[in-house]
Amino acid sequence: MKKIQAITGMKDLLPGDSPVWQYLESSIRSVLLSYGYREMRFPLLEQTELFKRGIGEATDIVEKEMYTFEDRNGDMLTLRPEGTASCVRACEQHQMLFDRGTLTQKLWYSGPMFRHEKPQKGRLRQFHQFGVEAFGFAGPDIDAELLQMTASLWRKLGLLEHVTLQINSLGNADARKAHRQALISYFEAHKDKLDEDSQRRLHTNPLRIFDSKVDSTRALFAQAPMLSDFLDDDSREHFAALLKLLDQLGVNYEVNPLLVRGLDYYSKTVFEWVTDKLGAQGTICGGGRYDGLVEQLGGKQTPAIGFGMGVERLVLMLTELDLVPAQLAQQLDVYIVAVGDVKAEAMSLADKLRDQHSGLRVQVHCGGGNFRAQMKKADKSGASVALVLGEDEVARNEVGIKYLREEREQQTVSTDALAAVFNQE
Ligand code: ATP
Ligand code: MG
Repeated sequence: MKKIQAITGMKDLLPGDSPVWQYLESSIRSVLLSYGYREMRFPLLEQTELFKRGIGEATDIVEKEMYTFEDRNGDMLTLRPEGTASCVRACEQHQMLFDRGTLTQKLWYSGPMFRHEKPQKGRLRQFHQFGVEAFGFAGPDIDAELLQMTASLWRKLGLLEHVTLQINSLGNADARKAHRQALISYFEAHKDKLDEDSQRRLHTNPLRIFDSKVDSTRALFAQAPMLSDFLDDDSREHFAALLKLLDQLGVNYEVNPLLVRGLDYYSKTVFEWVTDKLGAQGTICGGGRYDGLVEQLGGKQTPAIGFGMGVERLVLMLTELDLVPAQLAQQLDVYIVAVGDVKAEAMSLADKLRDQHSGLRVQVHCGGGNFRAQMKKADKSGASVALVLGEDEVARNEVGIKYLREEREQQTVSTDALAAVFNQE
């Protein structure tokens, strides 16, 4: 019979890989908490309409990447392709955003996202993101603080020297509209040089033409009307103040006038942290300001900014650059070898140790086997110490200690003295 395989682009996380994930996730979590962000969790499924309205019909995600289906009630549902729309939906639903315009929220979430893309290194169909959103802050200070926070995370992970912050301003809706008209006229005049995707985007989402990787299209960029020439005064001041703050904070950046981001909802600040260590999938974190989105989803006008970062790409970077702390590879500290009719004593001893030493990882040998067979398992388990318990030891209230990873005499101690031995280690 043919064995059933996982769906293309959807990966299992195996025990050998989970320590890196746990290390990364807990590092991210502790940085987010240290900046005062609070966790939210939303369902993986939402009404399709949420993403159509929230992300925009003319985006790659909504046009061709969503996992959408009709459920048994005939409702159109979609596996979330990103978190921002769900976050706004949840905040609105629970009245977290508007209290005479004074409420602010600093929120984060994490979990799987689903996009039907061509799977490759760093690009999956089920991938994982940490997302961060700040609502109710209009000024550039929060933009700067978000970027300071990401820079601080890269520094903690040892990644800062391998990444670059690219930043741009998309202006307000009017600025984008005027620029859009100028872009359409310009690209219309050179339509024959545009690739197929860009021709299609010309009238739906011309800004996205700047995302094209095709040389003939890219050759047109140098002369194309730049959004920066259309910026409204407010956006211009916001951007200048943000760059000044980043300079003062020592957060390095490159202004990239071609950076437009894939989603419709952005305004003013947009940014991406990119690396040259991952080939074509070089963006590890991307986001920006989306002052219009809450209103677009039926709420009151609320300034907002956020970003998403790709966990798989960060895991790849940490692994390839060898930045994972070595002790993480070890997943067990103590293996209890229990020979003879001493199972209950071994399990009680194990629990006592776990209670006494928080974080100590203890495994009791389960299944049969003589002393030699059990010691072999202990060695294979990766534990640094084997505790040996037989009927004689139990009768004498003793336990044998064997060091598995270092040249050191084995010893026998009384069960009561065992805690002290572990305290010294
Ligand atoms: P890309 O240009 O690489 O397709 P994107 O602009 O579509 O990225 P966002 O929607 O901004 O990505 O998502 C934020 C982050 O999530 C990205 O910077 C990336 O690190 C990660 N990410 C996005 N799509 C995928 C995917 N299919 N597989 C793995 N990670 C992804
Ligand atoms: Mg994409």
